[in-house]
Amino acid sequence: MAYKLWINGQWADSQGGGVMAIENPATGETLAEVVDASPADVDRAVQAAQTAFYDGRWSKLTPGERSLALWKLADLLEARSEELARLESENTGKPYELVSLGGDLPFAVDNLRFFAAAARDTHGSSAGEYAKGYTSVFRKEPVGVCAQIAPWNYPLMMAVWKIGPALAAGCTVVLKPAPSTPLTTLMLGELIAAAGIPDGVVNILSGGNETGQALVEHPDVRMVSLTGSTATGKKVMRTAADTLKRVHLELGGKAPFIVFEDADIETIAAKATFAATINTGQDCTAATRVYVQESKLAQAQEAIVEAMRKVTLGSPFQSGVEMGPFVSAAQRERVMGFVERAKAAGAKVLTGGRIPPEFSQGYYYEPTVITNVDQRAEIIQSEVFGPVLTLSPFREEAEALRLGNDVLYGLAASVWTQDIGRAMKFAADLEFGTVWINDHIPLASETPHGGFKQSGFGKDLSAEAVRDYQVTKHVMIATS
Ligand code: NAD
Repeated sequence: MAYKLWINGQWADSQGGGVMAIENPATGETLAEVVDASPADVDRAVQAAQTAFYDGRWSKLTPGERSLALWKLADLLEARSEELARLESENTGKPYELVSLGGDLPFAVDNLRFFAAAARDTHGSSAGEYAKGYTSVFRKEPVGVCAQIAPWNYPLMMAVWKIGPALAAGCTVVLKPAPSTPLTTLMLGELIAAAGIPDGVVNILSGGNETGQALVEHPDVRMVSLTGSTATGKKVMRTAADTLKRVHLELGGKAPFIVFEDADIETIAAKATFAATINTGQDCTAATRVYVQESKLAQAQEAIVEAMRKVTLGSPFQSGVEMGPFVSAAQRERVMGFVERAKAAGAKVLTGGRIPPEFSQGYYYEPTVITNVDQRAEIIQSEVFGPVLTLSPFREEAEALRLGNDVLYGLAASVWTQDIGRAMKFAADLEFGTVWINDHIPLASETPHGGFKQSGFGKDLSAEAVRDYQVTKHVMIATS
C-alpha cells in the first residue's frame, strides 16, 4: 500500500519528496510506503491551513458547530476502531488487545469527545469597567496555523492529543507524525473530511525530521506543538526563536517510583512491572527508577524480579500478550546500549538484559531489572525508553525526595505509602507535572498532562490544553 499526503481535504502527490518504507516491527516486513514530504509540500500544506484559518471556515464557526464536528469525528473513529487498532498494532508492535480494548483507541475516542465538549467553553474570562469611561472585554482567539509534530510511541493517540485542543480553539493545523509510524495518522484525513471538518483545517504530512524542521521554520506557522525527545525540543525551540513562534513541548521523562516501607509489596511489584513494560517501556511516563526504603528492599527486589519475569512477550496479535517488540531495530539497539554501558560501569542485571532466544524475528527484548547503580549513572539520569527498571535503596523521606527529583526531567512520578501526610508532602515537593499516589500510569481526558523542567511545558489533555492554543486580546471601548 502506498499513501499520499493529505493536503486541503484530499490526497495529494508530493512535489519533490522521497519515499519511506514503513516496517512491521514484529516481523521486519515492509507494511507500506509513504511520502517523505519536501519543503514544497510543507509550503502547500501551510498555505492550505493559512487560507482555511483566515477565511474563517473553521475559526468563525460557532463553538457549537465546531463541537458537533469534533463529536462526529469521535464517532467515526469509534466506528473504525478495529481497523485502526489493527493497523496501529502492525505499525508499532503494540499488543492488539491493549490498543483496541481498554487502550489507545477507546482513550483517543474519549479524548476527542472531551475536546468536543471543551470547544463550547472557549470564551474570554472577563468584561468590565477598569478605567473610567471605558469598558474592557478580554477575547480568547485561536493562535492561528499550528505545526504539530508527533512521536512514534502512541501515534494515533498523540495525533488526537494534538488536533483535539487545537481544533477546539479554532486553529488550523499541519500535523506531522513520526517517520516510522504515520499510517493511522494518515487514515485520520478521510475521517476528518467525513466528519464535516472543512478542507484545509487539518493537513497531514508524513516525513522525517527535515520535514519537521521545514514546518518549524515556516514563517506562516504561528505555533509549534512537539511531542518528542528533549533534544528535539531544544532544537525546535531554537529554530522557532527565529520567527518568534509559540512553542508547546511535551518531552522526555524519567519517572521515579518511590516505595515506603508501609506499602504493600505485592501491589507495588505488579504496578511497577505494568508501568515499566506497558508499550514495551516506550512511554514518557513509564516507571523507570524504583527507590525502596531500605527495610523492604530485599522483599521488593524479589517480588519485582519475579513479576518482570512473568510478563508475557509475544506477537501483537497473540491473545494474552502483555508486551510486544520495540518499534524498531534502532530503538532496541539504543536500549541495549544503555544496559550494556550500565553493566560495564558495575551495575548488576537481576533479570532480562537480553534478546529472548525464542524470538527469531522482530525487535523483542526482555523486561530488565538493574541494581548496584549510582545516582549519577547514565542509566539513572538518561531516558532509556525501554522496559528497564533500576532498583535503589533510600533511608528516609528527605533522601527519597532528593533522589526522586535529582534528574533533568520532570514529567511524572509516583509515591507509594499509606501515610497521608507524607503522600501530600511528596505531592507538593516532587517537581513533576503528574504525581501519582499509590498508582502509576492512569490519566483521563480531563487531567492536564505535561512536564516540568526539561520535560517541557504546555499541557496536553484537559481544558488547559485548549487554552494553550488561544491568545488573549484586550478590546477597550470608550464609553464616554
Ligand atoms: P523525536 O524527538 O526523535 O521525534 C519526535 C518528532 O519530532 C518526530 O516526528 C520527528 O520527525 C520530529 N523531529 C525530529 N527532529 C526535528 C526537528 N529538528 N525539527 C522538527 N521536528 C523534528 O522523538 P521520538 O523518538 O519520536 O519519540 C520518543 C520521545 O518522545 C521520548 O523522548 C518520549 O519521552 C517523548 N514523548 C513525550 C511525551 C509527553 O507527553 N511528554 C509523550 C510521548 C513521547
